[in-house]
Amino acid sequence: MEYRKFEKLGVSPSLLGFGCMRFPQNTDGTINEKEAQKLLDTAIKAGVNYIDTAYPYHNGESEPFLGRTLKKYPRESFYLATKLPMWDIKTSEDVKKIFYKQLERLQTDYVDFYLIHCLDKEKWQQVLDLGVIPFLEDMKQQGKIRFLGFSFHDDFDTFKKILTYRDWDFCQIQYNYIDTEIQAGDRGYELTEELGIPLVIMEPVKGGALASLPQEISVRFTDFDPLCSLASWALRWVASKPNVKVVLSGMSTMEQVKDNLDTFTDFTPLSLQEKEVVADVAAAIRQRTKNGCTGCAYCMPCPFGVDIPGNFRIWNEWSMYGNDAKTKHAYFTDMKESARADQCKKCGKCETVCPQALSIRENLETAAKELGELDK
Ligand code: SF4
Ligand code: SF4
Repeated sequence: MEYRKFEKLGVSPSLLGFGCMRFPQNTDGTINEKEAQKLLDTAIKAGVNYIDTAYPYHNGESEPFLGRTLKKYPRESFYLATKLPMWDIKTSEDVKKIFYKQLERLQTDYVDFYLIHCLDKEKWQQVLDLGVIPFLEDMKQQGKIRFLGFSFHDDFDTFKKILTYRDWDFCQIQYNYIDTEIQAGDRGYELTEELGIPLVIMEPVKGGALASLPQEISVRFTDFDPLCSLASWALRWVASKPNVKVVLSGMSTMEQVKDNLDTFTDFTPLSLQEKEVVADVAAAIRQRTKNGCTGCAYCMPCPFGVDIPGNFRIWNEWSMYGNDAKTKHAYFTDMKESARADQCKKCGKCETVCPQALSIRENLETAAKELGELDK
């Protein structure tokens, strides 16, 4: 197992971190604890010692499960990461209540890596308004938190604002070979490097999308090396960057655990030639996008309730990765009926502000038609 030193913190966790949001499940949706335990034990035995969970994972069951299951390991033998759910925080008192509940659930006196979860503009303002940071700094002083950071989902400017607000111990961003221009992206990576703030990476395989690509694209990887999985290319791309200290993977099956262990045991950074293959694949995936929506949301709100960037994201990702089942779920289950593309009343308001000058009405009409076909 490869271990990377967080120079700033003097610790060296495993480069592969176990993300605890996608454990195998029983038919009723609860964690299949026996199977999940096997996955964790296998990873830990192979040297994985960074375990990442969060308050809401598995409907609040991930933390208590880990509390029970990790008890057999000496506490100092692993690094535990968990996160403060800002969406559940309404008062300063809630921060304290939830933090102590997390310690109880995890059956521990301290958390090694504590993150403020999923920060964006609004949640950052809430963090400031509710005095979250002074409380967490106090917990750090008391030894209940070893290292304080945040996880992030918004644009680069917001990232910069939060990152430079204080001297964070580390931070966690979504980063992979496709998401280089969105969220923190390449610029965010470079800024962390410049400021010496170590990075933990989430969604290195883009929620699994980069692990199953359309055949005409995946062949570029398999022609180069038939033995390497598509996921391993994505993991190696991000882990080849020196300021990336931990790469999280939410593992659900033993096959995934073993594939990831293969990638991170005797880890080899991408060669120049391999980087070119990844760049070529990324370009081919991007070429399949339906339109150039950047998700900036300047067009929002739509007076008729259409989630314009949400529809375009689903439509574009469907075209890029060709995943019908996932797309159907995103469009027909996750998205409210009233927000779907077919609800557009063609008033045209959105088109007057779109910086990409997209033909939003026309595109929504096509998206509605094409995505609608998936339900037939
Ligand atoms: S054209 Fe359609 S999507 Fe755009 S603002 Fe009007 S109703 Fe909403
Ligand atoms: S303004 Fe244009 S680019 Fe921005 S989210 Fe709306 S449609 Fe997409």
